[in-house]
Amino acid sequence: MAEDAEPCALCGRYGDRLPMERHHLVPEHRDESPVAVVCSPCHDQLHALFTNDELIETYHTVETLRAADRMQSYLDWIRTTNKTSIDVRTSNDVRERR
Ligand SMILES: [Zn+2]
Ligand SMILES: [Zn+2]
Repeated sequence: MAEDAEPCALCGRYGDRLPMERHHLVPEHRDESPVAVVCSPCHDQLHALFTNDELIETYHTVETLRAADRMQSYLDWIRTTNKTSIDVRTSNDVRERR
């Protein structure tokens, strides 16, 4: 692991093979938005679970994302895995039923 490896802001995992992505917390102000470094699975998952409106209105900090009820079962699960990607079709289904 590199010295400067940054753990995922949501699940806290890190690793050489875990792709890290930048999530813009305030997407409507993309240029000056604070950025959270999250792993690829967490990034996919959060965009599957939350609409852009929800991200803008409520879940625009790492703290609210990490504490969101909808994230808990995912986070409990992903922390037990070393997955570097996930299939979010299931969570997309959940979102569309709401
Ligand atoms: Zn993560
Ligand atoms: Zn994002």
